[in-house]
Amino acid sequence: MPELPEVETFVRNFRPGLVGRRIVAFESHWKRNVRPREQVAARAMRGKQIEAVNRRGKLIVLHLSGGKVVLIHLRMSGRLEWGEPGAAEPRHVRAAWRLDSGRRLLLCDARKFGRIWVADDIAAAVGTLGPEPLDPHFTASALAARLAGRRRQIKPLLLDQSVVAGLGNIYTDESLFYARIHPLTRSDRLAPGQVRRLHAAIRRVLRTAIDRHGTTIDWIYPGGRMQRELAVYGRAGEPCRRCGALIVALRVGQRGTHVCPRCQPAAER
Ligand SMILES: [Zn+2]
Repeated sequence: MPELPEVETFVRNFRPGLVGRRIVAFESHWKRNVRPREQVAARAMRGKQIEAVNRRGKLIVLHLSGGKVVLIHLRMSGRLEWGEPGAAEPRHVRAAWRLDSGRRLLLCDARKFGRIWVADDIAAAVGTLGPEPLDPHFTASALAARLAGRRRQIKPLLLDQSVVAGLGNIYTDESLFYARIHPLTRSDRLAPGQVRRLHAAIRRVLRTAIDRHGTTIDWIYPGGRMQRELAVYGRAGEPCRRCGALIVALRVGQRGTHVCPRCQPAAER
């Protein structure tokens, strides 16, 4: 699933072709995943200019003239493509925005979990999201404040988009490894030094992954180079790059989770 670095890469790649363009028409081929329903959404977007394109958590956000936002969530297998006039149509096109440049922005999605919203603001569509982990206001003490008083295991807590926005399975596992925290550790049992390490690890891992254009593990998300540098994610049975112990796969909250048993010892009960 695309996480913050992959979504950021899409935003940076597609922004130059989108900003300043007008939406001429919108069409969905998988109507169930558009809110509000297709005709209402299309009417709200038609003739509007795309004034800015950015990212919030794992959402791609198009800011339209008139004040509405278009949110695109790629979920499991979504990706953006350009539909160029006269070119062959990519596979799995689920939605298309025709622009006044003559190009079409396409949401391609093999597994059809991707979602599109047209709304007055982000919260109206998807509820309140937690802070952006790369925002300057996201300090170690801001993270500590969000963890304090919670009594959940740290991994599911970090995956909760209302706690921190943008982390998914890959970068949570990587961040916990670099912070040397076991994913089952209860958030209220973390020492201040562990929270500081976790904060630094999250930011470093995400910055590195953006620099590498994200992680390409299968054909769904193309072009990333971060998979070559992953420390634990997807490396079960391989030696830890830090200590040589074999990386272990376990389930945490139904998510495949990867840990170094030596670098990330389980907390005592
Ligand atoms: Zn290790």
